[in-house]
Amino acid sequence: MDISIIVPLYNEEQNVFPFTQAVVDVLDGLNKSYEVIFVDDGSTDGTFMNLCEVAQKIPSVKVVSFKRNYGQTSAMAAGFNYSSGGIVIPMDGDLQNDPRDIPRLLAKLEEGYDVVSGWRKDRKDRTFSRIFPSTIANKVISLISGVHLHDYGCTLKAYRRNVIEDVRLYGEMHRFIPIYAVWHGASVAEIEVEHHPRRFGKSKYGFERTVKVILDLMVIKFLGQYVQKPIYVFGGLGILSIIGGFLSGLWALYLKFFRHTSLIQTPLPLIFVLLIVLGFNAILMGLLAEICIRIYYESQNKPTYLVRETRNFG
Ligand code: UDP
Ligand code: MG
Repeated sequence: MDISIIVPLYNEEQNVFPFTQAVVDVLDGLNKSYEVIFVDDGSTDGTFMNLCEVAQKIPSVKVVSFKRNYGQTSAMAAGFNYSSGGIVIPMDGDLQNDPRDIPRLLAKLEEGYDVVSGWRKDRKDRTFSRIFPSTIANKVISLISGVHLHDYGCTLKAYRRNVIEDVRLYGEMHRFIPIYAVWHGASVAEIEVEHHPRRFGKSKYGFERTVKVILDLMVIKFLGQYVQKPIYVFGGLGILSIIGGFLSGLWALYLKFFRHTSLIQTPLPLIFVLLIVLGFNAILMGLLAEICIRIYYESQNKPTYLVRETRNFG
């Protein structure tokens, strides 16, 4: 199998037929073997029925149906797991992404990249509740991750299979796959893609998603960079806190003995106690985290590194 298209769908009954038509038209023109995997994310309308109808007519259309709504990220993860293409391309099934961008993504991938990310430069969504918060979120994500893309939230991206093979997806994290990939040595390119306004059905998201995305970013930053040594984060903060506490205590003593300021006249003793307690707690939490990490890796015999290739090992 050359190409797997992954399409998460939640209550998109009116989009199923026009989307399938559009995507199959493009793929048939490529002379490559492909599959289109629809993941019905617990839809309560006729989405699944329509998908079955399509699957009966077109054998390269495959359908996975969830028992309930798990969210777009889980739907994409299921699609990845069921797919077998050497190149995996997720896209929205609401016709906001344009299947006609697929050949351009593939061409860019062929230049030698592992990931090609779509950028909805001219995005057709509500400005205030969607585009504005997402612009800020994208800037923050770029800054924190050190991976510079304009549009993490765009579902339409192309991945080489090995990139997604060992990624586990939680929460809103599908948008962070390119970051994860770069951190593990992959090369990422970005191209502009079309974006259309929604014609059928309605958007499942609003402003609140930005908050989730920022929280997820903290998780991925922590897991990605410190998961093997959590004590460096917890312990580092703990030691800083203890040093701050001691300075504050010393200052309080200085004021008492050399400036005749009583201990109860400043907040310094309070800060001393607070920072010392906080510091020791942070260090102890770091030790707990170290134990968790050892359980995580050793119980599954997981190596703490990823190998690209080997030679002469048979
Ligand atoms: N989607 C999904 N599960 C959900 C929410 C959305 O599978 O819980 C799908 C949805 O059907 C669509 C894609 O994810 O194909 C993007 O969703 P939507 O168009 O609502 O997001 P927006 O384009 O407004 O960001
Ligand atoms: Mg949409």
